[in-house]
Amino acid sequence: MESLRLLLISTPVGPLGSGLGGGVELTLRNIATELVRRGHQITIVGTKGSTAWGIPLIEIPGKLQTSALTQGRDTPTIIPPYSVLANFWEYGRQVQEKYDLIVNFAYDWLPFYLTPFFTTPIAHLLSMSSLSEAMDEIIGRVAIQFPGTIGVHSQAQAATFSFANSCRCLANGIDLSLYEFCESPQPWLAWVGRIAPEKGLEDAVAACQLAKIPLKIMGVIQDEDYWQKIQQIQQNKIPDFSKKSGISKSGISTNPLIQYEGFLSTTDLQQRLRQCQGLLMTPHVVEAFGNVVIEALACGVPAIAYDRGGPSEIIEDGKTGWLVEPDSVSGLVEAIAKLDKIDRHACRHRAESEYSTTAMGDRVQMWFQDILAKSNYSDTL
Ligand code: UDP
Repeated sequence: MESLRLLLISTPVGPLGSGLGGGVELTLRNIATELVRRGHQITIVGTKGSTAWGIPLIEIPGKLQTSALTQGRDTPTIIPPYSVLANFWEYGRQVQEKYDLIVNFAYDWLPFYLTPFFTTPIAHLLSMSSLSEAMDEIIGRVAIQFPGTIGVHSQAQAATFSFANSCRCLANGIDLSLYEFCESPQPWLAWVGRIAPEKGLEDAVAACQLAKIPLKIMGVIQDEDYWQKIQQIQQNKIPDFSKKSGISKSGISTNPLIQYEGFLSTTDLQQRLRQCQGLLMTPHVVEAFGNVVIEALACGVPAIAYDRGGPSEIIEDGKTGWLVEPDSVSGLVEAIAKLDKIDRHACRHRAESEYSTTAMGDRVQMWFQDILAKSNYSDTL
């Protein structure tokens, strides 16, 4: 394939490298790195303070966007004054002629609304499932007017939209050389992700308390109130959770069963994660994919997840982990007891065969090729 000039426009909810963008940050990094390796010319647009792993980066100032996850289904679209999202797309408009394709990583209304006004084609990679009427409407419009330009990470994610059939499923991929296989685990479980209500950390905490197995939590504290609540739940449930071992000033629990490890770099994350017996993934929403599941599998760590959304398509029940009835803490406890039935080599193998950066790069490249091949693209403008 000839070398493409690609402008990757990031999420406006936080700087790349901060963790606030959740899985989008790793997804963008892996796609960008793989495309550079394949000889494409990549420029990333990110909020001020972003890191871009040596890839050309345009840092744009402005007020961060509130994540669509915190809004209700009927919430109107809000764009603050001096919006970084608006600034991203104003920049994109000005430089669009220098690029063959623009790739949008933001789950926000504006880039979809602007799509017909651009002369350079835009590929939109959706990082979340259906969340609001306003987003469904605007994405749906783009799906009809520019067929093939809406990318998703799983079939389950696509199924949450009325335009499911016109979505392109790309799954995801990670650089497997960064994740070391660990044969002999230690007796603890991991929970990895943004600490925010939709991620259902309280279920993992409750399950570990019932199963009497330590849980190590890794990820950025996105919602401080929620984190405080998690610790209060623990205090109520464990009678010997003494005042001394309560909440430290920074909000970090010192309960020996539940340990907060902080927000870790990929290198540190895999170093810790690979030692655990299993990963718990307990979201209360339809997770679009679940990067942390493929990261765990890459280390040979089986994953236990609720049977809905992206994780149901990644985990093979009884082979690379266990799928549990959604929102069932007792189901999690039962699955924890069966973790030793999973062959850790099968987990690593699953990551190698489906979720390498090469496999993902092939899917993404083909997607771009198809978008650019649509000769009638400019006729639809
Ligand atoms: N992550 C990280 N350090 C941590 C915990 C998590 O870099 O200490 C990253 C992890 O690698 C993953 C992302 O946070 O890429 C979480 O993504 P996921 O797709 O699981 O959920 P999302 O946040 O997108 O809903």
